[in-house]
Amino acid sequence: MPELPEVEVTRERIGPVLVGRRIAGVRTTEPSHFFLTPPDSLLPRLSGRHATSLERVGKYLVAMLDDGQRLVLHLGMTGQLFAEGAASVRLLSAAARASLAPDEQPRFEPDVHTHLRIDFDDAGPGVLFRDVRKFGKVLLLGPGERSERLDRLGTDALRIDGERLFEATRGRSVAIKSLLLDQSVIAGTGNIYADEALHLAGVRPRRAARSLARRECARVADALRNVLLRSIETGGSSISDYVGPDGRDGGYQDERHVYAREGESCRRCGATIRRVVIGQRSAHYCPRCQR
Ligand SMILES: [Zn+2]
Repeated sequence: MPELPEVEVTRERIGPVLVGRRIAGVRTTEPSHFFLTPPDSLLPRLSGRHATSLERVGKYLVAMLDDGQRLVLHLGMTGQLFAEGAASVRLLSAAARASLAPDEQPRFEPDVHTHLRIDFDDAGPGVLFRDVRKFGKVLLLGPGERSERLDRLGTDALRIDGERLFEATRGRSVAIKSLLLDQSVIAGTGNIYADEALHLAGVRPRRAARSLARRECARVADALRNVLLRSIETGGSSISDYVGPDGRDGGYQDERHVYAREGESCRRCGATIRRVVIGQRSAHYCPRCQR
């Protein structure tokens, strides 16, 4: 599932393909829960417009348009936003993958999972939004229109500091892991980076948020920022379907200390990594390094 780093990497790579280019047309799949704005109103509202910037708000991408509209995209669980012509085996079906020669460079052709396609009035590549499981979202906001989805987001995970986290944890009996995942408290964090940050900070995921001392909150906030920045640097995590907008895989999955490493040895102390379920999400931790 794309988290803050994957969305940020997508923003950095897709921004230059999107910003400043005049939109000539939009192609979509049939109306569905994927489109919070009906697909047949996207074409007239987007045609002739261009994006002036592409921002990230938590796990949302927000393209500011020249007429004040905002195109909001969420990658959901398996969303992939990339430029036309991107090459990656991750974009292909299992059958197509199996038929590839080892040295073949696969090129992606838009398929039934390609729900949104933005074409431009120049000769450059279009922008494709593909989502196999279809938990992604497309929303077009009019000038000045507010969105409850964006308004309810808490502090961006890259801007959280120890003091802010300490305040947010006071009086909260919820597990610290769950609090880190609460987008209304900290926007952008997901399962992978919450587990990794708690490991680096030496805090067990099941601890009640309010039991964390000020210095522990400082360690968690620092660790969270560091794992997110490091992941952005390595191109994000390609654990399941995430693929960079140019088809490249991320590299962070190779640096994980605990996430999805149940039964393996802790890289710091050698103890066996455990997995527990907290609030219906799995959490991974080292019983020796984390207290
Ligand atoms: Zn350990």
